Amino acid sequence: MEMQRQQLPSMVLRLVCESIIDNLGEKSLRLLMTQSGLQAYYQDGKLPPADNSPSITLPEFSRLFTTMFGIFGDRGIKPILLRAGRYNLRHFRETNKTLATLAGAAFKVLPTDAKIKLVLSRSVKAAEELLQVDHSFSETPDGYLIEIKDSPYCVGIESDHGVCYVAQGFYSEAVTWATNQQHHVEEINCRARGDDCCRILISREPIS
Ligand SMILES: [Zn+2]
Repeated sequence: MEMQRQQLPSMVLRLVCESIIDNLGEKSLRLLMTQSGLQAYYQDGKLPPADNSPSITLPEFSRLFTTMFGIFGDRGIKPILLRAGRYNLRHFRETNKTLATLAGAAFKVLPTDAKIKLVLSRSVKAAEELLQVDHSFSETPDGYLIEIKDSPYCVGIESDHGVCYVAQGFYSEAVTWATNQQHHVEEINCRARGDDCCRILISREPIS
């Protein structure tokens, strides 16, 4: 996949747009794109193409999120972005080479912990390629930890909790894919709360 630096694949923007339309309607999307100065990506009611062609730049993408929080508020936008994150993972699970190879029979017989680690580390790699932002994956006594250095989802947003909902949805879908169960996913650090970077912690055990 050849891509110019700092340009995201069109599908990423498309999934966010679809999520906005489904939940808030087409008018809300138009308002959002206009207020973000991104009308060029949504002209004559035509959504960005559902493919991996180079599209919105990373700074533009961040601007979209800042504007979203401004217009719809944290509570309004949270479920929409969590959903967009889950759909992102599902989409890239099918189209991204790093993730698609995990579908084989050998994967299915791995122990749960190995499955989780494999899926999460590959998902982190996929997100890193996608956003061209440094990520890291590690294990701690509390669970699995994903660190995002310069998350595009919380630029200019102030909050007392983590607001990188697309990333939260993305990794929550990833771990569910690995275990077929829901795990506790929490953004324990976020730049929106003044932390140095964003950290997402995923519980070792599923939610009972
Ligand atoms: Zn964050």
